[in-house]
Amino acid sequence: MIAEEQTKNHRLVIVSNRLPIVLKKQKNDWTLAQGSGGLVTALAPVLKNRGGLWIGWPGATEAVPGLSDMLNSVSDTLGYTFGAVNLTEAELKKFYYGFSNEIIWPLFHDLQTRCNFDVEYWKSYLDVNSKYANVIANCVKPDDYIWVHDYHLMSVGKELRKLKINSKMGFFLHIPFPALDIFVKLPWRFEILKALLEYDLIGFQTLRDRRNFVQCVRTLIKDVNIHGKGQVLNCRVNDRESRIGAFPISIDYNEFARQAGATAVSEKAWYIHEDLPRRHLILGVDRLDYTKGIPNKLEAFRTALIRYPELCGKVTLIQIVVPSREDIPEYYELKEEIDRLVGEINGKFTQSGWVPIHYIFRSVSRVELLAYYRTCETALVTPLKDGMNLVAKEFCAASVDESGVLILSEFAGVATQLQKNALLVNPYDIEGVAETIYKAITMDKGEQRTRMRKMRRSVRENNIFRWVDSFLRTSIEQDLNSFPLVADYIPQIKTDEDIAIPFNTLL
Ligand code: UDP
Repeated sequence: MIAEEQTKNHRLVIVSNRLPIVLKKQKNDWTLAQGSGGLVTALAPVLKNRGGLWIGWPGATEAVPGLSDMLNSVSDTLGYTFGAVNLTEAELKKFYYGFSNEIIWPLFHDLQTRCNFDVEYWKSYLDVNSKYANVIANCVKPDDYIWVHDYHLMSVGKELRKLKINSKMGFFLHIPFPALDIFVKLPWRFEILKALLEYDLIGFQTLRDRRNFVQCVRTLIKDVNIHGKGQVLNCRVNDRESRIGAFPISIDYNEFARQAGATAVSEKAWYIHEDLPRRHLILGVDRLDYTKGIPNKLEAFRTALIRYPELCGKVTLIQIVVPSREDIPEYYELKEEIDRLVGEINGKFTQSGWVPIHYIFRSVSRVELLAYYRTCETALVTPLKDGMNLVAKEFCAASVDESGVLILSEFAGVATQLQKNALLVNPYDIEGVAETIYKAITMDKGEQRTRMRKMRRSVRENNIFRWVDSFLRTSIEQDLNSFPLVADYIPQIKTDEDIAIPFNTLL
């Protein structure tokens, strides 16, 4: 069976909520650019020149004149093609903002009181998942491997089976999977579990997420038999067999480290410290999202300044908040809360020549981001819950001189990997985080270096290519070596003008 699999030349079909492109409208003209991000970088070599296909929503609800020509011309450059799923404004509202982001997102991050269990959202979710399945069904061939990504598309596999598509299918959940007592609050809990079990391989970020899923399946699904040991378990329900695994996602370590060492980054890093001389810089980089625990972080920083007055004048928090989902009222309210807290803290503690919090509310360029990673002495990564958290890994990769302390929430998926060398905190424990901030600031250089070296090694070894590789090996017995050389397709970055990083193109 394995030998037979290995000889097959599978084509990879990636399905995600959004296509990895950025569509922009200026007056009446549309432009289309290639998206960026770890997932695109990792999957490009597997798709390129092998007939690879990426299916998703292009990012506009209105008709875009010439869209298919633009997609074709980007395809020619990239060596793989795109399949567009067109969504209406109403679908976007109910399926994306509604079911995906007002139900699944908060529930799977353990914040069930933020859920709005509107049955209209659920209906739209099913309709839109079926729409994706129809587009896929029109393009796939029997030997294709279909790899569906994330919480927006949990029912696509089931819809494909209804359309009699028997290709192998995998699913990867980028966000956490909640514990049973939280998951059962979902009115459509049985439907979601059954839909997920239609995939041949269901991948989670961590063993904790996998354990939660297994417990939900064992409790809620009849006649289930889950067995096996190690990274991947087997699950049989009636005559359907699926596998369930943990595959922690990562970053393109070498590229981050290389870019962090570039002259443009070194210069920018130097200026950041030159503008804030003799300051210990603490860095926060978060998308505007209530799961990121930004208010808790600000409270902890305030507590540290009160408890350890000797820090005043010597420590600066640089907090980058990247705008996201501002159409949802809760995100707008969160922004107001952050603005208020920053104002209060700066109002109370600012002295001549020292402002405690430098608050940046926008996307930053790649060069700027890398310069902050490189030059800040401490990173404060304190989400209330996070599937993985790539900022923590990027901070390690970019710390090319092996200095820097990582303060990390124990509820981020990445904590499983970095727990021994990061300073772990409970983000709800404001006093505890404040003490840890002090500990990070006073940690001696030797200990910093030892910890950072180990974290960098771990991120280097478990990089994004290893993630793709292990998922594909488990699914179809093929690894990245069966595909063209990865290094050929890594996007190069040269100057600051290169980039307005589109934040989370796929979210
Ligand atoms: N990032 C970005 N634009 C910015 C700042 C950061 O695209 O202005 C990137 C950052 O490099 C990282 C990602 O956004 O790759 C954030 O990923 P993470 O897993 O930490 O959180 P998410 O936002 O996906 O929940």
